[in-house]
Amino acid sequence: MIGLLRPTGGALFLLLLLAGTARAADDYTLPFHDPKVGLSYGVDRDLRSCIQADWTGQVWVDCAAHWGRVYDNHTGMDFPMVAFSAVAAARDGVVVDLFEGFGTWQFGANGNFVLIRHPDGKRTLYYHLAQNGVLVGVGDQVTAGQVIAKSGCSGMCNGEHLHFELLAQQNGWWFPTDPNWERRWTTWPGRVPFLASYWRENNAGAETIVHGQTIAHWVEFRNDGGRTWRNDISRGRILLGTWNPAAHASAFRAWDWGSSWYATNVDRATAPGQVGRFTFGLYGGPPAGSYGETFNLVANSLFWFDHARLGSFWVPINVVWGISPTPRAGTR
Ligand SMILES: [Zn+2]
Repeated sequence: MIGLLRPTGGALFLLLLLAGTARAADDYTLPFHDPKVGLSYGVDRDLRSCIQADWTGQVWVDCAAHWGRVYDNHTGMDFPMVAFSAVAAARDGVVVDLFEGFGTWQFGANGNFVLIRHPDGKRTLYYHLAQNGVLVGVGDQVTAGQVIAKSGCSGMCNGEHLHFELLAQQNGWWFPTDPNWERRWTTWPGRVPFLASYWRENNAGAETIVHGQTIAHWVEFRNDGGRTWRNDISRGRILLGTWNPAAHASAFRAWDWGSSWYATNVDRATAPGQVGRFTFGLYGGPPAGSYGETFNLVANSLFWFDHARLGSFWVPINVVWGISPTPRAGTR
C-alpha cells in the first residue's frame, strides 16, 4: 500500500511524532512561507552556451527561456513573489555576508542579498531583496524558516521574485548546485502546508509483476493545497515522481513515464477538496524479489509531502519470474 508509514515503520513513525521537530540530515526547507509561490526558472545544469539541462534531465538545444523549467546559464532558482514578501532561511546557519544598498526595484546592477553558511559546509544566497529589506546582520545565527529578508526586484531583475542559490565549495571556488536535482527540498518545518493527502489505490496497493512485463497501477490523492492541479506541461503541472535521492531514477520505469522518475501526470484538473487519480505503468525490470518504490506528488519540482517527518508513500512491488514452458520429452 501507499500509506503514511511503511508496514514495519510504526515505531519509527511514533518516534518521529513524539520528537515533533525531527528532520533528515540534509533537508533544506523552501526559502519562503507563501504556499502559492511557484518556480519560474531553475538551475541550468549544462554550462555550455545555448544548451540547457533542467532538474528532470530534459535537455534543450536552444537559447530560449523555458518557463517553469530553466533558461540558459541560470545559476539559481527564481520564485516569483510580490515585493516585500517574507524570505526565509532554507536551513539553520550563520549570516556571512549581506548587501542592501540598492533600490527595491533597481535594474542594472548586482542587487541586495543575504549569504548564509550552513553546518554541512554549503551556503545559500538570497538575491534581489528590497531596499532596507535585510532583517539580519553578519554573524547572526538563524534557524530554518526564520524570516531573514523582504523580497524585491533589486539588481538584474525583470520582475519581482526571489533568486535563490545553493552553493558548494570545490577546489577553493564556490559554485551553484541544483537543489532540485539533489532532491533537497522538504516542506519541513511546515513553512509550506502539505498540499495533498493519500486517498486510495489500485489493488489496495500491493502489486505483483512478472519480470519483464508491465502492469497498470493507479493511486488517488486528495487536493488539500488550495489551488487547482494542472495538466499544463509548462506551468505548475502536477506529476507523480519517485523519491530515490541516490539513483535519481526508478527501476520500475514503464513506457508511459514522462522521464526516468516522473511516472505520470494527473488525469484531470482537480480543484481543492477533490480527488485526482494517477494511472501509470510499473515495469518488472529488476530481478525477482520484493521491492518498495516510493512516490511523491511534484509541482514545479517541489515535493508535496514531507518524507522526513511522515515516512514514505510507497508501493510494495513483488517481482516474480515468468512461468517457463515445460519442455516436452524428446525435445529441447
Ligand atoms: Zn534568477
